[in-house]
Amino acid sequence: MALRFRKSKKLGKYGRINLSKSGVGFSFGVPGFRIGISPKGKVRRTVGIPGTGIYDVEEVTPSKPKKANRVCHKCNRKAGQRDSFCRYCGVKLQ
Ligand SMILES: [Zn+2]
Repeated sequence: MALRFRKSKKLGKYGRINLSKSGVGFSFGVPGFRIGISPKGKVRRTVGIPGTGIYDVEEVTPSKPKKANRVCHKCNRKAGQRDSFCRYCGVKLQ
């Protein structure tokens, strides 16, 4: 008997791990509402009415992480993203 590779594995009560050629994805949710994350990081939200077959899938584009404002560690004033030195106190920025 050959071992079969399971493509999806339960993760706790509401979660599921999905294995595919492109990687590992996750999904979790309750009947009627699921969130899935593909191996590529795409987030898909499925909202439906259990038992009816009516559901709506919406792809959620994760918002790009905002660049954190660089702040001078010495004087706590704002520094430009590409500044090497603080324009106020002249300290070398990290
Ligand atoms: Zn400074």
